[in-house]
Amino acid sequence: MTTVLDLIGETPLVEVTRLERGPCRLFLKLESANPSGSIKDSPARAMIEAAEADGRLKPGGTIVEATAGNTGLGLALVAARKGYRTILVVPDKMAREKILHCKALGAEVILTRSDVGKGHPDYYQDMAAAITARTPGAIFIDQFANPANPLAHESTTGPEILRQMDGKVDAIVVGVGSGGTLTGIGRYMRNNSPATRMILADPQGSILAPFVNTGKMEEPGSWVVEGIGEDFIPPNCDLSLVSEAFTISDAESFATARELLRMEGVLAGSSSGTLLGAALRYCRAQTEPKRVVTLVCDSGAKYLSKVFNDSFLAQEGFTDRQRQGTVRDLVINRFAEGAAIVVGPDDPLRTVFSRMRSSDVSQMPVVENDRVIGLIDESDLLGALLTDPDGSERTFARPAKDVMATRLETISADASIADLVPLFRRGYVAIVMDKDRFIGLVTPFDMINHFRIIPR
Ligand code: PMP
Repeated sequence: MTTVLDLIGETPLVEVTRLERGPCRLFLKLESANPSGSIKDSPARAMIEAAEADGRLKPGGTIVEATAGNTGLGLALVAARKGYRTILVVPDKMAREKILHCKALGAEVILTRSDVGKGHPDYYQDMAAAITARTPGAIFIDQFANPANPLAHESTTGPEILRQMDGKVDAIVVGVGSGGTLTGIGRYMRNNSPATRMILADPQGSILAPFVNTGKMEEPGSWVVEGIGEDFIPPNCDLSLVSEAFTISDAESFATARELLRMEGVLAGSSSGTLLGAALRYCRAQTEPKRVVTLVCDSGAKYLSKVFNDSFLAQEGFTDRQRQGTVRDLVINRFAEGAAIVVGPDDPLRTVFSRMRSSDVSQMPVVENDRVIGLIDESDLLGALLTDPDGSERTFARPAKDVMATRLETISADASIADLVPLFRRGYVAIVMDKDRFIGLVTPFDMINHFRIIPR
């Protein structure tokens, strides 16, 4: 009988043919084709089966892990099939899609801070260890030190790559989260294809690439790419296997993942953008033809609301918009680009509500012929529902123009950012105008985000 667990591994290899690769051939191993959609399915199964084999994990037992998401997904999948309980401690920067997916598999998810380091009680590793200690029958998977993690890649991913490449591979570009991929594939190549070089792709802010290049431990920064980059060297991460390391910015990782989809049709996640960014740089720097492999660590489907969401990219400052130091900089969703979230005066309140919910906003400009004629927010909607004598069915059918506010506070796109403050203090959101053209809306949230990206 074939179960979903039998579909782990033997992932396909495809060649990149449209992106500029210098004299090299570049291949992508699609780990995204695994059942839970990532490179972590095979180590997740291996770590659970190792704990079963050595007797630490008993029937009905509990699996605890600190995870960026994909290990959790792999563990939750295998645990669900085998009847174990799963508790996952997840840092709060992780994509919502992964967290919802873990929960849907039946895992209990505990969110914790992503901005604290080792030794802090809210640090995800320390929290997972503490939960294991107080839960009877629980084991801590500990992918950072668990030998079954790299071993899974040494016995499956490594041999698969060499076989799929007909034994000829000059370089493999990998990222490091736990180090399982690097150490597992690297060890296999050292023993079976010693000329193959392991190349590290690392997010800017991680300490790993600087350590490889300078031998020094830098202060860690922060990065948005998920699943790779570290503020310490995990026990499972054997950096002596690395012959070259590249630091790739979030902006380049995101742009590369988007380009991969547009040019090659491969929907890959943010860490794959980092890996491909480094792989392309490596390929373009070669003077001799090389055969290079990198990995699509997970599917871009997990990041549609991040990597492939223009609004998120604008919030992170990953756009080519010029900064003016004015209110214009704070307008994330621009009306002229069709990105502003607006309603028409005759749209029913039902539409207003569903647009608010799907776009996660609490107010919207009411626009007629490209002019803002009103503003509608959740209190207008609730007010109408509470006072309407005809019942909520009728209220939801009423047009937006019936309940919108018409006393509008506009501000020039060229005004200084500080000019927004008095407006916000009076409880308004700002309708931003370029002379008589509507540019978009700015809320206190946009100002908070602005100061996050550009500290005052
Ligand atoms: N990419 C993504 C998206 C991941 O979730 C992970 C695992 N954290 C990796 C790459 C790196 O894998 P490893 O743990 O083997 O270093």
